[in-house]
Amino acid sequence: MTIALHGSGISRGIALGAAHIVQRNALEVLEYAVAEPDVEGEVERLSAAVEEAKQGLRELRARIPPNTPADIAAFLDTHLLMLEDPTLTDEPKRLLRERRCNAEWALKLQRDALVSAFDRMNDAYLRARRDDVDHVINRVLRILLNHAPAKHESAEGSLEGLILVADDLSPADALLMQQHGIVGFVTEYGGPTSHTAIIARSLGLPGVVGVPHARQYLRDGEPLIVDGDEGVVLGDADTLILGYYRTRRDDRQKRVSRLAKLKRAPAVTLDGVPIELLANVELQTDFDLARAAGARGVGLYRTEFLYMNRLDVPSEAEHFALYKRLIEAFRQQPVTIRTLDIGADKQTSASVSSRANTINPALGMRAVRLGLKEPELALPQLRAIVRASALGCVRLMIPMLSHVDEVAQMRGLIQGIQAEYVAQGIPHDPDMPIGGMLEVPAAVMFADGFARTLDFLSIGTNDLIQYAVAIDRVNEEVSYLYDPLNPGVVRLIDTAIRHADAAECPIAMCGEMAGDPRYTRLLLGLGLRAFSVHPSLLLEVKQIITESEVAPLRKIVGKALRTTDIVRFRELMRSLSASVD
Ligand code: PEP
Ligand code: MG
Repeated sequence: MTIALHGSGISRGIALGAAHIVQRNALEVLEYAVAEPDVEGEVERLSAAVEEAKQGLRELRARIPPNTPADIAAFLDTHLLMLEDPTLTDEPKRLLRERRCNAEWALKLQRDALVSAFDRMNDAYLRARRDDVDHVINRVLRILLNHAPAKHESAEGSLEGLILVADDLSPADALLMQQHGIVGFVTEYGGPTSHTAIIARSLGLPGVVGVPHARQYLRDGEPLIVDGDEGVVLGDADTLILGYYRTRRDDRQKRVSRLAKLKRAPAVTLDGVPIELLANVELQTDFDLARAAGARGVGLYRTEFLYMNRLDVPSEAEHFALYKRLIEAFRQQPVTIRTLDIGADKQTSASVSSRANTINPALGMRAVRLGLKEPELALPQLRAIVRASALGCVRLMIPMLSHVDEVAQMRGLIQGIQAEYVAQGIPHDPDMPIGGMLEVPAAVMFADGFARTLDFLSIGTNDLIQYAVAIDRVNEEVSYLYDPLNPGVVRLIDTAIRHADAAECPIAMCGEMAGDPRYTRLLLGLGLRAFSVHPSLLLEVKQIITESEVAPLRKIVGKALRTTDIVRFRELMRSLSASVD
């Protein structure tokens, strides 16, 4: 009988294969006292296990294939650093000597202490690091307990075509999975923002995480379907269901290769309207994907990544090194670097900034507000962007604007840096375009005012929708209201585009809505002419653009903007998205 299990789909795509169940979290830690003369021997046993764990990670790091995203090595480095941290190495030894307990027990005591300390923290970043502590300590415990490595953990052997089912996976596991030819994975724990999830997405492995008791419900060797799009795992599927998913997987592969042919085609509608297709990028892997999809530049470079997974503020040199890589990857194409947007859904450590972690962070100190309040956070970044402007076609974009005064203040900071660089003879582009994101309804209603003070605008629908319908975008209970087709939202987007057009200010959209093929025709009909989308969606959007005619779309959208009848509105929206699966 087919069973369906639900979790969070963390990377798009469908995988079919036999289940490979990893039963390894049963780390039975025996607790016993060690006789006084044996204590130092036990300390040495612990040191040797830590050393072996480090060696294992170093070997894995050395085996990372050259085409693997650079960021992945950084995750392994974090684990290596943790194995050098006295809290993980010296403290268990102190416990061992003090209590004369065995090495495993000392390590377990320290893990329990750290995990409960992490659980109590208000700081979302540090709370999330609890998983890293677990992964690292379990690695050492397995060595102490002489646990044979799970098959996917050893360098030898192949698990070609299998689907891994585990309690949890570390970033190192995700890398090994790819090297072993594993086609998908299911875990009982872990969330969509964990390091493991990020790595799996970068590697393009379909996966579903947070499926409780998956290893109890699924049997080793049984045929599995992992639907990373919907977050569903199907066990023991019958031939009918298997056939359905096989077709979906194959169709998807065919669609991907058909779309690849569109890479060089111009993004022009059937009635000759040219559309600018830019990419939203964050990691190095996205740069490669964007170029492969034929993006005409970067419409949104999210820089928050640099502020995460660390306890200090990133330096100007670090920012500059990143921007240099970005500019070199896109040569003479425009790259839009967004200034820090930390806070709300993008938390950092409290030591980077303590202001962002308030009760209602979506409405609190985030993005440009935080940068203006704490210039020590913003200035190294602004200095680096201004310096990087000498290297290519750099545009600076300010997120979460709610008042034009914020633009004036940001311009003041930027002009100060430019004046200093002129005095010091540091090369930069004095005419670097400065743009802003329309994410707050008040800013949309005054988009013509913003257009007077900015060189370009970009609609951030992810936030605009949450503020327009008054819901928190990370709160699942109200996510049913998160609807780009809310008539009020559609009217707001229309207002933004009309105001920008009237002021002759270029306007793009870089929220997820721009990359969702179901809305491409609506946006064309609203007059949007520049889309910035995740590179994996760029060709799908381009396909719809090349198959659409703008003039009839404008008419349909015009009717939708005028009607007050929700049934009619929905009909018109359906007619726009028809034929997009
Ligand atoms: C948005 O809000 O639409 C946007 C692009 O920014 P982010 O998702 O990074 O908040
Ligand atoms: Mg936003």
